[in-house]
Amino acid sequence: MLQLNLGLRAANLSAKDVLCYGPRFWEMHLDPIQPLDIATFTIIAAGINLTAGTLAQYLDERPDLEPLVKSLLRLDTVALVMARLVVDGQNRGPRWFIVPICDERKMHPGVISRRLPPRTGTSPLDFSLTSFDHVVLPRSALLGTSLDAPVNPREAWWREVGRIPHGSMAVAAPFVSGLKHSAYVAGKYSFHRTIVGKGTAPMPIINFPTQQWPIMYTLAAARVAEAWFRELTTIVAKPSIDHRTTICRQFQRCTEDVAERCGAQGTFESNSMARMVSDLKGVVIAEGDVLALCIRLFSELLQERYALPLPPSSDSLLAQHAQSLLNDNIQLVGSISGGHRSQEFQDLILPQAEGAIAAFGHAMALSAARSAHVPEDLLDIYMLGVVDLDPSWYLQHANFDKMLLLRRKASLMHRTLPRLNQYLDELEVADYVRAPIISDGSLKEHMAALPTYTTPHEEGKPLFVNSAEVDMHVAKL
Ligand SMILES: Cc1cc2nc3c(=O)[nH]c(=O)nc-3n(C[C@H](O)[C@H](O)[C@H](O)COP(=O)(O)OP(=O)(O)OC[C@H]3O[C@@H](n4cnc5c(N)ncnc54)[C@H](O)[C@@H]3O)c2cc1C
Repeated sequence: MLQLNLGLRAANLSAKDVLCYGPRFWEMHLDPIQPLDIATFTIIAAGINLTAGTLAQYLDERPDLEPLVKSLLRLDTVALVMARLVVDGQNRGPRWFIVPICDERKMHPGVISRRLPPRTGTSPLDFSLTSFDHVVLPRSALLGTSLDAPVNPREAWWREVGRIPHGSMAVAAPFVSGLKHSAYVAGKYSFHRTIVGKGTAPMPIINFPTQQWPIMYTLAAARVAEAWFRELTTIVAKPSIDHRTTICRQFQRCTEDVAERCGAQGTFESNSMARMVSDLKGVVIAEGDVLALCIRLFSELLQERYALPLPPSSDSLLAQHAQSLLNDNIQLVGSISGGHRSQEFQDLILPQAEGAIAAFGHAMALSAARSAHVPEDLLDIYMLGVVDLDPSWYLQHANFDKMLLLRRKASLMHRTLPRLNQYLDELEVADYVRAPIISDGSLKEHMAALPTYTTPHEEGKPLFVNSAEVDMHVAKL
């Protein structure tokens, strides 16, 4: 926590950086230290983007709020509550109010907090349900100066909560760095962890293709996701896709895979992967459950209310897949008699929504990564890893049968293995990763420092009296 606070202070964000989503704002989110403590990141994301950012929008009309914004940028806390403004019994629409919640000892009068149970396996952060019962506030608590009802309530609402799509984008950032951590930890471990097979010479487990592929795919996904995320930060006037789906789902699959490929070590908190996976589950649900958001976005795309900057089919096999999912389903929707509210729409379109949105993201991400000059072999690995997610489409439309996929993967693994260690170093996370399994030396140090319990033998007393006792002891072991 202290470490991250220092990182936040070093980022030295101004209200303008936050308000305009400047480069320093995004660099802080992509800081490779963030995946180590998602609890603190959650506090930063809520405090900086949502609270300070929302307040900063009002600074022109409310310069008195400047000290509060500055203190929020240092992570002091205050709550912004969205509540209905009622004047003389008349509803004037939802507005933001600055509300004191508690001090170190007690809740503010009328504020009720119910502490929720811990979320299994996650970075420690308490969550609670907060409700309000006749909380008395000063006039200055209301953000904005007008008490009038908005002319267009829907537009007014979106103006008030306009930072949410950016917040949704921001919460995926630590998992871009998280992919790097996972590839690095599992990769380095697989180079030094040896087993003895048929011969007597120990063999590193990285020699197995079943280690190589998940590690290489995680590495490739990290490089591609980073290139895409960085591209998105330059065009964030209005995030147009829930890229959280693509990045978070890729992180979830990759990290679960590589953590398991680290055996028992992959389950330990000290090696961070299992905890990052648990933390990710919250990010998939908070800021709107990704499945529900994908259903909405996919439905709107299919009704052509909305369009995405998808690369053309000629860009890549993934772009061909994305374009086909979009166009084939637009046609399907056109042929459904009851339209988007019918049972047939529900049955045929909803189950495809998340996979399709993720696929649009894969195509866009690959295109961004190529423009960012991510090495060709990593782009190829990324592509084949994505093909695995929808094999029936690739078989039907691109003749990608199982044997072809296996052979293409094998040849890529052979080509990339000699450079794998260098690629892991180029992720530039070595200074941030805390997992002791990354080297034989740090693992031995870690084992030596584990809490140890034993009882010394009594001096002079033989360990075993007769051979029967020895046999019994061996049997127990
Ligand atoms: C870590 C974390 C932090 C959070 N922080 C905050 C916070 O600061 N403030 C706050 O107000 N809330 C917060 N939330 C709550 C969060 O916004 C909700 O959990 C989220 O929107 C999902 O709602 P729900 O939990 O009620 O799930 P539900 O909506 O009950 O979803 C349950 C199931 O129903 C499905 N479902 C729901 N709607 C549809 C639909 N239209 N079509 C198809 N399937 C559907 C879902 O996909 C899911 O499978 C947080 C949640 C988490 C996990």
